[in-house]
Amino acid sequence: MQQIINQAESVLLHTYNRFQVVFDHADGVKLYDVNGKEYLDFVSGIGVFALGYNNKEYNDALKGQIDKILHTSNYYYNVPAINAAEKLLKAAQMDRVFFTNSGAEAIEGAIKAARKYAYNKDGQTDHEIIALEHSFHGRTMGALSVTGTPKYREAFQPMIGYVKFAEMNDLESVKAQITDKTCAILLEPVQGEGGIYPATEEFLKGIKEICEEKDILLIFDEVQCGMGRTGYMFAWQKFGIRPDIMTSAKALGCGVPVGAFMMTQKVADSSLVAGDHGSTYGGNPLVGAAIDKVFDLFEKQNVLANVQEVGAYLEEKLEELTVKYDTILLHRGAGLMQGLVFDKPVADIINEALANGLVLINAGTHIIRFLPPLVISKKDVDAMIAILDAAIEKTLC
Ligand SMILES: *Cc1c(COP(=O)(O)O)cnc(C)c1O
Repeated sequence: MQQIINQAESVLLHTYNRFQVVFDHADGVKLYDVNGKEYLDFVSGIGVFALGYNNKEYNDALKGQIDKILHTSNYYYNVPAINAAEKLLKAAQMDRVFFTNSGAEAIEGAIKAARKYAYNKDGQTDHEIIALEHSFHGRTMGALSVTGTPKYREAFQPMIGYVKFAEMNDLESVKAQITDKTCAILLEPVQGEGGIYPATEEFLKGIKEICEEKDILLIFDEVQCGMGRTGYMFAWQKFGIRPDIMTSAKALGCGVPVGAFMMTQKVADSSLVAGDHGSTYGGNPLVGAAIDKVFDLFEKQNVLANVQEVGAYLEEKLEELTVKYDTILLHRGAGLMQGLVFDKPVADIINEALANGLVLINAGTHIIRFLPPLVISKKDVDAMIAILDAAIEKTLC
């Protein structure tokens, strides 16, 4: 394994401090490294493999599509993408979709749609976007410009202009940033990278009211919190506060690189038109077949019910740990998107867990993040808690 790691570090640009493990194959909620050691997965490739690994129906759908046609071009229609679009729009309660290849690209498209909508209203090009502190929307220049972590942006200035930041769950801070030029308010209904931070119903309601009153577009980034993660198909559906534009990615294709931005008919009727946006790969037959099958399997496997049940159980178990250890300050989250907040860095705990066959990830230095496959069982939660508990105990001494 060390030899492979050395080889990797001689060719790959070092933009990640990687864990010292090379995964080779996977099955269900278990990963296996190149030495055959088994790991319980509570990361699912950062919220991607919602259905678990090596799902036969999913694999067969992809293999079938590979043997038919992998790629055409967006200048032609393809059936898998149309089927995928229908199922996604139904689940998302949106009217129009554009498929991208990643979450960041979905954000880029959402920003372009919002700017074009505002441009069509007054012909001006000085419209402002309000995003939130501690948000994460991706690493491309546009997505970075609306990401609320200054250290990610600093070296890459100038960002795209006219972006302002407000505080999560602080309606007054949002109001303070609104001007006649505000064209969109962008937020994650549950912040992921920023520390598993759910928006309150009151906050979302307040923002929605402002948006309706001033014809400001409400954009929800559901790249991480969407696709069943919180126990709802999309996190905003818990409160019924529907955005004008929304993004999806990560679990949307359950392993193939795909994202999407979607919008209501109102936005579609007055924003991007032919020639305004495009993508060579976006929504090609392969990812279309994947998305199509993902929605079928979500239904067939009753994924949302499982998230609600096992998510509540996970919360119970995290509460027990919080009570047990002074070093744990609190836990928060929704469904199978949970965070455990410590009063110290969590890197040692995560490394100790990994050594003992449990894959965990942080969100910020002090928070352990839980993003398991959505098909995990209570037994998996028990197994995870046992290893985590021992890892906390050990790193305390
Ligand atoms: C991961 C993430 C992105 C970026 O997605 P990529 O596919 O990595 O570009 C955007 N928004 C949120 C909320 C994310 O969690």
